[in-house]
Amino acid sequence: MGSREVSELDWQGKRVTVAGLGVSGIPAARVLHGLGAVVTVVNDGDDERSRAQAAELEAEGVTVRLGDGATLPPGTELIVTAPGWQPDKPLFLAAAEAGLEIWGDVELAWRLRGSRPGRTPAPWLAVTGTNGKTTTVRMLASILEAAGLRTAAVGNIGVSLLDAVLGDEEYDVLAVELSSYQLHWAPSLRAHSGAVLNLAPDHLDWHGSMEAYAADKGRIYEGNQVACVYNVGDKATEDLVREADVEEGCRAIGFTLGTPGPSQLGIVEDILVDRAFVENRQKNAQELAEVADVQPPAPHNIANALAAAALARAFGVEPKAVRDGLRAFRPDPHRIELVEEIEGVVYVDDSKATNTHAAEASLASYDPIVWIAGGLAKGAAFDELVRNAAQRLRGVVLIGRDRALIREALARHAPEVPVVDLDRTDTGAMSAAVQEAASLARPGDTVLLAPACASMDMFTNYNKRGEAFADAVRSLAATGRA
Ligand code: ADP
Repeated sequence: MGSREVSELDWQGKRVTVAGLGVSGIPAARVLHGLGAVVTVVNDGDDERSRAQAAELEAEGVTVRLGDGATLPPGTELIVTAPGWQPDKPLFLAAAEAGLEIWGDVELAWRLRGSRPGRTPAPWLAVTGTNGKTTTVRMLASILEAAGLRTAAVGNIGVSLLDAVLGDEEYDVLAVELSSYQLHWAPSLRAHSGAVLNLAPDHLDWHGSMEAYAADKGRIYEGNQVACVYNVGDKATEDLVREADVEEGCRAIGFTLGTPGPSQLGIVEDILVDRAFVENRQKNAQELAEVADVQPPAPHNIANALAAAALARAFGVEPKAVRDGLRAFRPDPHRIELVEEIEGVVYVDDSKATNTHAAEASLASYDPIVWIAGGLAKGAAFDELVRNAAQRLRGVVLIGRDRALIREALARHAPEVPVVDLDRTDTGAMSAAVQEAASLARPGDTVLLAPACASMDMFTNYNKRGEAFADAVRSLAATGRA
């Protein structure tokens, strides 16, 4: 089945298999069923929760098969998958053999975006990267709002794209966060403009290799109309622009923490400036905002602001709205969040540092540091991270399943630094970790939760991990005051 046929497919009676009964699968099943498709949901798990969800869907007329996500239902014409399902699953191998297309949640939203009668679909300004996606997309939405545009931050960020394209709210433009998984399953996506913020090894167990991971991220540039935004300091992102097949006239726009060249945005004396979307860019530059307008003004976050500004400018937003939008922006919780200062020691929650690249950015922001780290490593190596941070470490407290990997890297590159290995993966370990960190810290130090790992060995998600940290810090403060 060619992609044109499928995009024009009349849904009535089409047999669609939805893979995964989850946050994207359930709404996808409902929407497709509503369009007249014959929907079967397949799901690996068969627990109490999925049985309850299945019962609800079945009552609406959707078939659900629990406990078997591997077998392709006979007669399937199209698969719509949850983005997290790994491409080497038997279901997909069977689908490939049968010549079927596989769409993720983003592809489905992209294909359906024109299906509300009388409505012009909103263009997408899309952001991906190993780190900084959520922050950048929120900054971008804030800028677009300041410009008086009807917009929302959507995608891998809370609001589903399906809701955004099919709901009652009308938008002029969408600020879209896309994960590498979502991009993998979105073959026909064509954003107005796209940005890859940075590229560092992450989720390699899913993608299979760094090359495959990068290639999936690079899909964000495919078919861009106005700008492909890349990071001047991260050559891999620029390489992806070069490899992309874009619309005639689409430009490569770099962002840099240094002085910008022509067709770049960058920093000149604490000012964010634009040398891309100005008349005579060989000579002119346009002031957009001050570094102090960006919260927090850490270097990696200034980079995020520049990327957001580049996408907004590509969409024609005026400089003043960039400044107003950045000023109005407030970071989400668990991203370099100050929790408390206790006896001269500052406690910072960067639970969202779920990989080494993010942890590197936050470790570079403080000195000296008592570092709390560990969790699920997702195939990462810790040598470079530890080597770069070694000079700033007062001590380290390790928790979580893969902590030995960090302990070994510390032994290789920072043998002098005291390490407390808690040898625990229970939820209560966080409180013990904070107490250990407090006894290693001296006034002027920062106790930094930047785990460089995913949280799911100990917590439901990174939010819960950050909350456990903050709770432990607050009870430490309360004990101190008692
Ligand atoms: P994502 O949505 O890509 O996970 P977030 O904005 O939620 O990104 O930030 C995730 C983590 O990455 C945070 O811990 C933050 O400190 C760190 N971070 C944010 N922006 C960058 C960046 N540009 N480079 C490196 N690390 C970053």
